[in-house]
Amino acid sequence: MPEGDTIFRTARSLSRALVGRPITGFRSTFPLLARFDDETPLAGQLVESVESRGKWLLIHFSGGGTLAMHMLMSGSWHIYRHGERWQQPRVNMRIVIENSEFIAVGFRVPVARMHTALSLPRDKKIPQPSIDVLSSDFDAGAAVRRVMAHGSEEIADVLLHQEVLAGVGNVFKSEICFVVGVNPFCKVNALSPERVADLVANAQKLVAANVMEDSGDEIVTYKGRNRRTTHESDPDARLWVYGRKGEPCRRCGEAIRRRLQGPDARVTFWCPSCQPMPDSSKIDG
Ligand SMILES: [Zn+2]
Repeated sequence: MPEGDTIFRTARSLSRALVGRPITGFRSTFPLLARFDDETPLAGQLVESVESRGKWLLIHFSGGGTLAMHMLMSGSWHIYRHGERWQQPRVNMRIVIENSEFIAVGFRVPVARMHTALSLPRDKKIPQPSIDVLSSDFDAGAAVRRVMAHGSEEIADVLLHQEVLAGVGNVFKSEICFVVGVNPFCKVNALSPERVADLVANAQKLVAANVMEDSGDEIVTYKGRNRRTTHESDPDARLWVYGRKGEPCRRCGEAIRRRLQGPDARVTFWCPSCQPMPDSSKIDG
């Protein structure tokens, strides 16, 4: 599952190739998209903007339509020059948007629909910008209240609810809990509002740090104690806990643990010493 930062980077690349340039061609294997294009041809329109909303990618056209896609596990967008060889077989092509300079190809995009300005806000699956940790409209106070409303659930699971915090995926979930020193299996109602605010602030900070221009395609939350180049480029030294089962904690040396968590059995990593379970008798904070 791509995390919000991956979709954000895809939106940024598509934006550079498509925004402001007249569309010269559109094709799709989705019947409803092809029909929309028959009735309201996209050729001749401009791409006005491309945005990410959590795990959704939205392309807004000057004619008023918005192409909304959920990328799930399989989808990816490539940008080619005309005549350049595609990196995936044509059979995987789902959507093509062309202009005079570039061909943008959506491969194996699993979910795509066309919206109007009226129907887009009614699509409850697509998060509003205020709940997307990467949006400038993100409302942290409201996010804390949404987390607190899931009091009986385990915190790491709640961080994954896209209607609570859009853009946080399974890797960030473990990393955020470690950075704040919260046990991922702790129930939300055992956490103080200040602690939850700390989690939300770090969710925003860590995901945002991974969409900076020089951040590359890998998720990086740990930069090494000395911030030396050798540390940063070491592929084994990118994350605090995720994928590090049995390896020593970067803060205390204790072995990192791994366990499946929640109704979807998503993998969780944590340090039992840096992230202790709060006593049931006291409120953590
Ligand atoms: Zn530790």
